[in-house]
Amino acid sequence: MALTGLDIYKLLPQTNCGDCGVPTCLAFAMKVASKQAAVDECPHVSDEAQNELGAASAPPQKLVTVGTGDKKLQIGNETVMFRHEEKFHHPPGIAVMVDDSEDVEEKAEKIAALHFERIGEEIFVDTVALNCSSGDGGKLLEAARKLHDKLGFPLVLMAADQAPLCQAGEELAELRPLLYQRGGPGEDLVATAAEKGLPLVVEGDLESCDAAAQEAKEAGVEEMVLCPGAVKPAGAVEFMTLARRAALQKNHRPMGYPTLVQAGMEDPALQSMEACRYVAKYAGIVVLTVDSPEYVLPVLTMRQSIYIDPQVPVQVEPGIYEINEPDAKAPLLVTTNFSLTYYSVLSEVESSRVPVRILAVDTEGTSVLTAWAADKFGAEQVNEAFRKTDALEKLDEGHRKPVIPGLVAVISGELQEESGCDVLVGPKEASGLPKYLKNEWDKLVG
Ligand code: SF4
Repeated sequence: MALTGLDIYKLLPQTNCGDCGVPTCLAFAMKVASKQAAVDECPHVSDEAQNELGAASAPPQKLVTVGTGDKKLQIGNETVMFRHEEKFHHPPGIAVMVDDSEDVEEKAEKIAALHFERIGEEIFVDTVALNCSSGDGGKLLEAARKLHDKLGFPLVLMAADQAPLCQAGEELAELRPLLYQRGGPGEDLVATAAEKGLPLVVEGDLESCDAAAQEAKEAGVEEMVLCPGAVKPAGAVEFMTLARRAALQKNHRPMGYPTLVQAGMEDPALQSMEACRYVAKYAGIVVLTVDSPEYVLPVLTMRQSIYIDPQVPVQVEPGIYEINEPDAKAPLLVTTNFSLTYYSVLSEVESSRVPVRILAVDTEGTSVLTAWAADKFGAEQVNEAFRKTDALEKLDEGHRKPVIPGLVAVISGELQEESGCDVLVGPKEASGLPKYLKNEWDKLVG
């Protein structure tokens, strides 16, 4: 039977020292009870209590670590089926497939370039799946070392036979690769993973994975990744959904591991969409064969969107942002501090090369129309933002003509009265800004 927060609290030291990262023992006990923390995160818990609590309080899905250092990948340890219930904790690794028979250094350069900035965050490919098509352990080792030297990314080592993977497990254990024998791990590979403490992929349908995970666990493998193998996209989603349900809702331990899937559709655009679907539906690692930015970026964008905390609006600091070194005659563009809105405006302004000030009004991270409808982006709030930031004082008198988004043209009259300056109505969409700034602004300010 599941332990309650109070049951767990009784077994803790009750000193409220905060060393577990939570201010009190009771708060920590509640986290353990809701499977958001493991009892061994308290460094002061006694061995007896650890034993008593360990099995009962272990998170329903194991945290699996691939790679080492700053670039290590941690997957699993998820606690909910739907992100609105809480949030998803560990974003999946997005891995590009490399073959040990190709020029791996050239490929590494291509993978390193799959790095983008979106709404103020860096998003990038962070894992490599190295396939041993040569069947030669030496070649696999050489390619793995080259990739690691160039990228430092966690490695998924894949092969049809266990021999090259056992060799790699022995010789590259310090890199903590994920070992993946297609069709399921052989006995020697299970023994290598157990001996070296490495994560291991078990492959097959749910029933086979269930049995294989129990066997590997009994043999001493602690960290595993479940893989449905070469199945159609609907089958892969079904596999991942049922495995997650079994772990989280039925506490079925053999399914309590993250998953790995390969997006296998040949058409690159379809493969990109397939991978997005896997990101949304519980994948721990998604392996791609496509490596062009136009196909990889949507997958990274999907990961970023799904793994944002849905209860925390994505926002930028409210205030004035100076772009392209504006002087006292530069336009003042007014928008909200919702990240997506702000960065859309920013990217259009940057591409126009026109010097501009952007005033991001504090709307608690909501977009223009949502904020206006919630009374967070009306004349009063915008005028208050002018006052707080001295936005108008930064401009020559003849250029004190703030530009508001076309979507809230309705507030222009009231804002004009409140602020005492001319208010201009800009385009409805950020994409209209470059044309507006180049063709209209000068005419409007005279
Ligand atoms: S580290 Fe242990 S003793 Fe300290 S507050 Fe956390 S649970 Fe309590």
